[in-house]
Amino acid sequence: MAPVRHRKVLILGYRAVGKTSLAHQFVEGKFVECYEPTVESTYNKVVVVGKDEFQLQLVDTAGQDEYSILPHSFVIGIHGYVLVYSVTSLRSFQVVKTLHTKLYESRGRTRMPVVLVGNKADLALQSREVRTDEGKKLAESWGAVFLESSAKENQVTQGIFLRIIEEIARVDNSYGGSASCRLM
Ligand code: GDP
Ligand code: MG
Repeated sequence: MAPVRHRKVLILGYRAVGKTSLAHQFVEGKFVECYEPTVESTYNKVVVVGKDEFQLQLVDTAGQDEYSILPHSFVIGIHGYVLVYSVTSLRSFQVVKTLHTKLYESRGRTRMPVVLVGNKADLALQSREVRTDEGKKLAESWGAVFLESSAKENQVTQGIFLRIIEEIARVDNSYGGSASCRLM
């Protein structure tokens, strides 16, 4: 059997968009209603994608805004990013845009595996501020995966973390290809 591979993924986004709730749903399978602005915490879970087994290390960050300076620890040793906004908050959508730009610059403008998540989809009927096609368009412009989710109703929450592992593999492979071309 193939060796277990290690993947380190960061969950980023404005406060109260549901970063911790998504991580909890994924790791523990439950939704916590009360809001606790998180200090950073790390979860570990073994994830099976196809025939491969991954040790996923998920870092739930405390939340950022447009003015946050991203520490080196957000770049070095990080395989992929889950960027979360809330479909009920236009501001949180602006924040993921600035975060992506900053990460892209910090990583030397190389392709990076990203899943863009519009969370709180269960509240969309009453209080949507970001349309689905706006999220989709933004993700397309980055070459990223786009998903709308609900941590509350446990919709798509597992899918987010499977997709980021697949994206990491996809981006790695496309690099492998171009590197061998350069050698010739
Ligand atoms: P974080 O600051 O991004 O980690 O956000 P939290 O996960 O702590 O969630 C902030 C608040 O939004 C909490 O009161 C959650 O219960 C609530 N929340 C998170 N995800 C959802 C969701 O998908 N739907 C609804 N209705 N509420 C959510
Ligand atoms: Mg949190």
